[in-house]
Amino acid sequence: MATANPMADEMRRFKGNDEKNPFEAMSERFDRAAQLLGLEDDFYKVLRVPSREIKVYIPVKMDSGHIEVFEGFRVQHNFARGPAKGGIRYAPDVSLDEVKALSAWMTWKCAVVNVPFGGAKGGIICDPIQMSQGELERMTRRYTAELLDFIGPDKDVPAPDMNTNEQTMAWIMDTFSMHARHTVTAVVTGKPVALGGSLGRREATGRGVQFVVDEAIKRFDLTPAETTVVVQGSGNVGGIGATLMFDKGYKIIAISDVGGGIYNKKGLNIPEALSYQAANKTFEGYKNVEFVSNSELLEIECDVLAPCATENQITSENADRIKCKILAEGANGPTTPKADKILHDKGIFVIPDILANAGGVTVSYFEWVQDRMGYFWREDEVNQRLQEKMVASFNELCRYADKHRVDTRTAAYMLAIDRVAYDTKMRGIYA
Ligand code: NAD
Repeated sequence: MATANPMADEMRRFKGNDEKNPFEAMSERFDRAAQLLGLEDDFYKVLRVPSREIKVYIPVKMDSGHIEVFEGFRVQHNFARGPAKGGIRYAPDVSLDEVKALSAWMTWKCAVVNVPFGGAKGGIICDPIQMSQGELERMTRRYTAELLDFIGPDKDVPAPDMNTNEQTMAWIMDTFSMHARHTVTAVVTGKPVALGGSLGRREATGRGVQFVVDEAIKRFDLTPAETTVVVQGSGNVGGIGATLMFDKGYKIIAISDVGGGIYNKKGLNIPEALSYQAANKTFEGYKNVEFVSNSELLEIECDVLAPCATENQITSENADRIKCKILAEGANGPTTPKADKILHDKGIFVIPDILANAGGVTVSYFEWVQDRMGYFWREDEVNQRLQEKMVASFNELCRYADKHRVDTRTAAYMLAIDRVAYDTKMRGIYA
């Protein structure tokens, strides 16, 4: 579909390339894990496809007075273990295949950290940077109204993702509550703390990345002070992850945003660099560093590489030039299946996305629990419970990988599929 946005058209074509199609990447890994598990054909057929794909057209009155119609999706991949759970993304290059992949990853992610949710994801094809707050609010409310029958605390619980935030969640919660005729805080997570959000949710994904990196470096007999880290992305996951690791004594030697990054092999002062980026909307011009492109940044020699920006960053084209010991995937789908094999042959230890960035959904689960109890925890309690969950899940995954003699990514898929298949079978979700 050609649109008025050539960048979006280009990105859609890019995503049409097989290696970089996220749903194909998810399916390839699913197939391999299902085969190694010996998953029965019946359950293979059930779990390989989403449960429901919803497509909506959202008419919105723009500030100029004309009406624009936006295309939106909500894909609910699986409900075997509980309500579906997953973010909503606003971007020009959102596609149904991407949302399908992200919804399946949510199912596997929730199963890896053993929280009682299935997977879902939503998205609207739009250019949020060009839209006013009023336009975004009207679009969000109309999208929510279209989905009223499908979302809810016991059905499907949305959360923020790229270009959506606490404000977006507050609008969704309010629209849902208007129709329910009472306040329903547990319909979304990632809300403002004052409206039933959880302390620690904003930092949870970056904090979760830090917790699993803390565990992984022990396998290499490294301490934080001896560990060099490269972070791609400086948003919610990358920026907060880098700050927390910096505070813990890690040496962060490079960080980037969409326009490129900065590198200093002696280490960066992360809070200072992020303040500079926030004030100038770029890292360019920051003193005493080398400016690098995002592709150069990924190839810097380091102990830990944390891609925390977007999909398809490590592919068959650059995987052989990656020089880290540990790959901690803060983003969803930063590595393609073809790259997996190359990284494996190089002996790189991968903390797969469905574990590494699961801190976000874990604290979302805590938020949902707190909303339903109407009783809220202290921030240190939230962080403590998150740490217990991430450390236990990391160790369980490593044990599973050793037992089955597979790499950690395959192990994560096997563990998740095994759990979801068991619940599907016990419930008899195929009558
Ligand atoms: P964000 O919008 O806050 O930050 C994204 C960062 O990546 C920004 O610094 C941006 O400049 C940079 N970036 C964007 N496109 C890029 C590109 N093509 N190349 C290089 N850099 C680019 O988003 P976020 O919430 O930090 O999410 C980042 C990734 O983590 C996404 O894959 C998202 O799905 C995943 N994730 C986020 C959460 C969460 O709680 N926020 C949870 C799990 C997974």
